[in-house]
Amino acid sequence: MRPEILNPLFCSIDALKGVGSRYFKLVSNLVGGQKIVNLLWHLPYNVIDRSYSCPINKIETGKIWTGIVTISEHLEPKTKKQPYRIVCEDETGEIILNFFKYYKDSLKKQLPVGTKKIISGKTEWFNGQIQISHPDYVADVSMENLIKGIEPVYPLTAGITNKMMRMLVNQSLSKVSVLPEWLDEHFIKQNNFLPFKESLVKAHFPQTSQDLSPLSPQRQRLAYDELLANQLTLAIARHYHKKKEGRIIKTQGILRQKLESILEFELTAAQKKVLADIIKDQESKYQGLRLVQGDVGSGKTVVAMMAMLNAVECGFQAAIMAPTEILAKQHFETLGDWAKKIGVKAALLTSKIKGKKRLEILEKLKTGEIDILIGTHALFTDDVTFKDLAFIVVDEQHRFGVEQRLKLSLKANKPDIVVMTATPIPRTLVLTRFGDMDYSKIDELPKGRKPVKTLVMPVSKIDDVTKALKRKIESGARAYWVCPLIEESEKSDLAAAMARFEDLKKVFGDEVGLVHGKMKEKEKDAVMKQFKTGQIKLLVSTTVIEVGVNIKEATLMIIERAERFGLSQLHQLRGRIKRGFEEGVCMLLYGYPLSQSAHERLNVMKESEDGFYLAEKDLDLRGGGEILGTKQSGFEEFKLANMEFHKNLLLTAYKDAQIILEKDPELKSKRGGALKVLLYLFEQDSAFLTYKS
Ligand code: ADP
Ligand code: MG
Repeated sequence: MRPEILNPLFCSIDALKGVGSRYFKLVSNLVGGQKIVNLLWHLPYNVIDRSYSCPINKIETGKIWTGIVTISEHLEPKTKKQPYRIVCEDETGEIILNFFKYYKDSLKKQLPVGTKKIISGKTEWFNGQIQISHPDYVADVSMENLIKGIEPVYPLTAGITNKMMRMLVNQSLSKVSVLPEWLDEHFIKQNNFLPFKESLVKAHFPQTSQDLSPLSPQRQRLAYDELLANQLTLAIARHYHKKKEGRIIKTQGILRQKLESILEFELTAAQKKVLADIIKDQESKYQGLRLVQGDVGSGKTVVAMMAMLNAVECGFQAAIMAPTEILAKQHFETLGDWAKKIGVKAALLTSKIKGKKRLEILEKLKTGEIDILIGTHALFTDDVTFKDLAFIVVDEQHRFGVEQRLKLSLKANKPDIVVMTATPIPRTLVLTRFGDMDYSKIDELPKGRKPVKTLVMPVSKIDDVTKALKRKIESGARAYWVCPLIEESEKSDLAAAMARFEDLKKVFGDEVGLVHGKMKEKEKDAVMKQFKTGQIKLLVSTTVIEVGVNIKEATLMIIERAERFGLSQLHQLRGRIKRGFEEGVCMLLYGYPLSQSAHERLNVMKESEDGFYLAEKDLDLRGGGEILGTKQSGFEEFKLANMEFHKNLLLTAYKDAQIILEKDPELKSKRGGALKVLLYLFEQDSAFLTYKS
């Protein structure tokens, strides 16, 4: 249950004065939530100084002036071009308010002659008079305190004025109680932090532009609070997950040895290390949940197979799930082949497999005749039941949230789960997004990987590129041609790929093929096969070949309009030609206009082949959204923290959360109680679900 002290903050925004149903929608869209607490996280981005005030005859024009005046006369315009003018005065002189756009009646009602008002706006000298055109404020004198001084300026939306926003924020702030301190006392002193409420108030009432800095103590404190709530939730989830009893998969490694004996290579040290991590999870009596990162071509598949064989050796079943049909099939070719050779029964199951064949597979899964199932997410539809599934690998699926992880483990009987991803995820993202998982990294490529030479050139050189390509292909090379990503429409991607295909056909005739996402599985397979066997030598595609596809003969890649891709994506694409028999060449063709950051990105591609370095760079140059897909980057979730400025705080929050859980896993101490308030404040209620399960 949410602590009572927070309840006022979780009332609907429309409980505030001045919020009707129309404003409710506008405001909640603007602040990203319907609760009062959401208004609190909506911080100003600028300040306007309205502290300048003096008698009218002392006004220096050009400044923003704020003062109390008496309305003395309304001057209606004689022509359409003239403004509506209102003469105001104090003891020392007159000031004119000009309105070029106005409703006469409302001005008369709002500013009746003889009343006193506070006005604020930029003053100017015109026709021998001091004037303000469209004053920012014309209000009741009682509003003086709110208007005079430094005004915070909020991010706004059409229909919401800054004045309105300030009123709402002020009302919201008045509902915040003094909360128990959840931060370590020493840490607070060290960083010159103020208590939560004071920090919040200060953040909403900046006095100088320095107060707006993300590095100001109050903003850092708020960012830290938010990050700590995030890290503590993940740490709790992880702590309790680890305590959940799972299966014990303990073997002598007989099947693993059998596989080793038929492999034409030896595992790299990095592969061995990661496998050992997984085996440790398997042997423990708790449920394992591990993220395995390994750059493209680092050899994750064989590690997955070894781990699955452990489950099989214990008499359990194992499953591996790929994100696309192509990849599932490719896995089946490799893994199925290995399995056959060592007497293990593997099967492929995708949504395309229907009818009798499907029923047969389902039956064999139920009886346990199938040891290893390979498939897409269709693997976990309702009609699939396993005899005893104890180990699951999720491959190339970093878009796999906490919720999906939970669902998956419900499908099987407390399985160990390994999530494998080729997308190098920067450490900060691992912490915020996958902090509930253990983490291993295959940080070494198998020997014999060929470097790829990367060239960057303008798309206007396309004819030269085509000519060079023609020569290469005539001497036996095989190449990918990746077509540009156009906005977000799949349709226009397709049109561009088709057009390029037609163009290239004129040069390469029957030796060029096309694959795209809208093709039927069968057609796609047929084209891929033709490419593999060499019937087709140039494969034009949209980004469907992005992950996993493995064709050793292909050593060339042309990426059109490369500036439209993220670094990670380019890296993934380029990885396709690293596995070749020969050194690869990748040509990045760019178009205009080329932004500064796009320019830098392409240069970084030329310099580095290190996926982790590129991912960090991508994060710097484009922001986290590009790596994991906008919604899932794990950074958009933060309202107060900004990774550009608060990376260090994240690392500290991570450590802080570990220590808290070590000392007080149930959050029962005094600080623990305050931390519970923090978790609820940042709507991390899911942390408490974990306690119950
Ligand atoms: P990824 O990590 O991108 O999924 P794969 O598992 O598909 O990479 O492996 C890429 C290629 O490298 C495969 O052809 C695989 O057989 C091969 N491979 C894997 N491990 C090794 C190794 N230790 N030495 C040599 N080749 C390896
Ligand atoms: Mg793979």
